[in-house]
Amino acid sequence: ETIGANLARTVARHPGREALVDVPSGRRWTYAEFGADVARLARGLLAAGVAKGDRVGIWAVNCPEWVLTQYATARIGAILVNINPAYRAHELRYVLDQAGVSLLIASLAHKTSDYRALVDGVRADCPGLRAVHYIGDPSWDDLVAGTVPGAVAEEELTSREAELSCDDPVNIQYTSGTTGFPKGATLTHHNILNNGYFVGETLGYTEHDRICLPVPFYHCFGMVMGNLAATSHGATMVVPAPSFEPAATLRAVERERCTSLYGVPTMFIAELNLPDFASYDLSTLRTGIMAGSPCPVEVMKRVVAEMNMAEVSICYGMTETSPVSTQTRRDDDVERRTGTVGRVLPHVEVKIVDPATGTTLPRGGAGELCTRGYGVMLGYWDEPDKTAEAIDAGRWMHTGDLAVMREDGYVQIVGRIKDMIIRGGENVYPREIEEFLHAHPKIADVQVVGVPDERFGEEILACVIPRDPADPPTLDDITAFCRERLAHYKIPRRLELLDTFPMTISGKVRKVELRRTYGG
Ligand code: ATP
Ligand code: MG
Repeated sequence: ETIGANLARTVARHPGREALVDVPSGRRWTYAEFGADVARLARGLLAAGVAKGDRVGIWAVNCPEWVLTQYATARIGAILVNINPAYRAHELRYVLDQAGVSLLIASLAHKTSDYRALVDGVRADCPGLRAVHYIGDPSWDDLVAGTVPGAVAEEELTSREAELSCDDPVNIQYTSGTTGFPKGATLTHHNILNNGYFVGETLGYTEHDRICLPVPFYHCFGMVMGNLAATSHGATMVVPAPSFEPAATLRAVERERCTSLYGVPTMFIAELNLPDFASYDLSTLRTGIMAGSPCPVEVMKRVVAEMNMAEVSICYGMTETSPVSTQTRRDDDVERRTGTVGRVLPHVEVKIVDPATGTTLPRGGAGELCTRGYGVMLGYWDEPDKTAEAIDAGRWMHTGDLAVMREDGYVQIVGRIKDMIIRGGENVYPREIEEFLHAHPKIADVQVVGVPDERFGEEILACVIPRDPADPPTLDDITAFCRERLAHYKIPRRLELLDTFPMTISGKVRKVELRRTYGG
């Protein structure tokens, strides 16, 4: 089934239920209204000359027009290119050119955006870019009003749609860029619609659910696990703010009586630490998703106990696999819910292999997680060599993540292969040391990375945000703290004190940058 056909089914089934709520502006759409606005925009895009397979870029923070564009492009068989709202000129030029974007939809609504100046600056270098439409500007109104020259009738849209296949690409989604430069994963209707559907199914979504989405739409967490999970089950998408704000998020949950809340771990931490946290009424919450980076057990427990999210789920996945491969279930006990990334989703395969030999390891062994099934992307857009490195001849996606599959089928993520430190021949996993150092009274947050060392090949560096900048821990403090309980080769030998970590917009720490800055 295509995304358009799936949406049409939900519109027919639940026309009067709410599809989309934009909290900042107070605008709301029922499914009937949402379907009608998607159709108008789809006709506008056809009239603007967008053909099947053309790349349409969207460069905006979270807003209703983002969602309308997602479904309108899918209905006409265009390929939506998600552009990170944090990009500056250099990255924007790269993406527009790499993906061959011919029409760009950009936003002027966000307070910090100087998008028009940035677009004007790169346009001369992007000859393929024919048109730019700004949300909140007459050029957008033209697009949705169908007043662009050559307006297209409803029948034309329907007949174009009939030519689409669920195996057509519908989306180029760039990875987060946590470990290097982002790569454009090319995804089909079949890839992402199924993933959204199954993630929603595992959470038990129905038309009565209202999902609060502070996670970026430009990332699969928002557009697949959020939007597609919602529309395939008739649930409501609630947009709390253009970009993440902890107080606005909890206010939206309260006001819109949300049943589900999403976030990467750093978002939940920020919400739980709000000074007025206790004043928000979160009693309508039932479920939600934490995902994207390692989910600390302590944070999960607080989310269950203090945010009323008894059924909160951890998902593990990556952009290249649409994204989710494993997920905790509604009836999992606390240990499985907080200490694992769940088990394999329906119709997905997972195996753990020895990264050196490629042989499958028995349960309990740590190795690279590989996954196969409907979610695996077509490939990286226009990068066949990188695709061949990531997907093997048997269509297994090599994730680059180290994991263990336990006897009970539940998966635990050990860390990224790229982050593993090899010190004097010993493998050291930063995550283990980080979880340990989190318990130190003078440490607010910590990242552990390997840096080049003449004697040991790599040495262990702890980057620490102190709780009290006036009284930070010393290297001696840390050594003494570790000595009793960690093997000697895991003890950090270097310390850097920082105020913040370099982050991606989706809230992930860029260790690659820490290594670059402090590795010399
Ligand atoms: P890039 O590939 O550009 O370096 P990225 O891998 O962070 O960036 P994404 O596709 O957004 O880009 O993230 C997928 C990665 O996030 C996974 O490979 C994994 O390392 C990490 N991840 C996702 N969910 C979890 C989780 N629940 N626990 C631990 N790690 C997770
Ligand atoms: Mg990745």
